[in-house]
Amino acid sequence: MQQLQDAGGLGIAKKLISSYYAGAKDIAPDKVEQREFGVGNFQTKIAFRHMRFIAEKDLRAYLSNNAIPYVSCSAAYYKYPDARPMERKGWEGSELVFDLDVTDMDLKCQLRHGKSWICSECLDAVKAETIKLIEKFLVPDFGFAEKDISVNFSGNRGYHVHVKNEGILKLDGNARKQITDYIAGIGITFEELFPNAGERGAALRGPRPDAKGWKGKLARNFISSLNSGIDSLTELGIDRKDAANLYRKRSLVLMGINSGNWDMIYIKNKADFWKRTIEVQSIRQSDRIDRNVTNDPSHLIRLPNSIHGETGLLARKLVSTSALYRFDPMTDAIAFGKGEVEMTANSRYEVRMNGQAYGPYDGNTVKVPVYVGIYLYLKGAAEIRNLN
Ligand SMILES: [Zn+2]
Repeated sequence: MQQLQDAGGLGIAKKLISSYYAGAKDIAPDKVEQREFGVGNFQTKIAFRHMRFIAEKDLRAYLSNNAIPYVSCSAAYYKYPDARPMERKGWEGSELVFDLDVTDMDLKCQLRHGKSWICSECLDAVKAETIKLIEKFLVPDFGFAEKDISVNFSGNRGYHVHVKNEGILKLDGNARKQITDYIAGIGITFEELFPNAGERGAALRGPRPDAKGWKGKLARNFISSLNSGIDSLTELGIDRKDAANLYRKRSLVLMGINSGNWDMIYIKNKADFWKRTIEVQSIRQSDRIDRNVTNDPSHLIRLPNSIHGETGLLARKLVSTSALYRFDPMTDAIAFGKGEVEMTANSRYEVRMNGQAYGPYDGNTVKVPVYVGIYLYLKGAAEIRNLN
């Protein structure tokens, strides 16, 4: 039975994984000997943990010899990474890691294809969130330098961001939680943004666009919606009549906000109006990170440049954060670029890889590039056979 299975998709997948790792470069993180590793099989992403590798060549040999479909590595550095329980490892610090995943987002395309399938719209949306995390939070608000930030595709439906700098290594779970609360927009209060909202008869004072942190972010974003037109304003939950009024008088409104006066035109129940608008905005501007991952200094996260066993794609590490803009995971994260397989597939949606669309398939048998066959096989949508 095993042999029969190995002649099909599973055997092909194992062989490809094994040969990828045999020649893989740049798979060891910095201070590899201080990291805890976890490995999985095709059923479980982390089946064993508390593993240690002294050098990249040992890691490479292990992954290749065992055709490991999932490998994760600690954000933490330990004195004894293979010791257990956790308290005996001798924690020496942790990178700050962020996990952004399409399944944590609510997207229009998901209404069409569900949360288990991933389309190019999903991938674009999670990429935009990742860029936002770096450019709107990590760099301006926390002052991290681009060189301290590295990004990799998760290998399936998101991105991982690793921040390494002396200042964050020793942060405990609590300090990490304060960072994720801030990024998720938790604890922003209307009263803090509009301190005199309760005063009768006074002009409503609010955040200026040049203010630091969330205050400036919200003011600038409102200005950008105002300049974009009535539809953008209605997306903030403003009704069409008020939106039209704001848009018509926008130069006056803008002049006010620039100096912190949010009361330049008459708006009925103004405090309630701005409170609602700001709430919608803060939800839209906060970042969709998996807070549990960042908050836990001992979390194991997919090893950059390793294979993802549900797609056959690489958790490809990007050369720089700005490379994200032109990164297309369905092309740039392809691990198995050579050869073709015969595939019998059932999938309702097309998959776009390396610039070409494949499918949908209705049980037909076709010849496709290996990376397409493996992708659909690992997603459970196809059986594949070697061509001969
Ligand atoms: Zn989608």
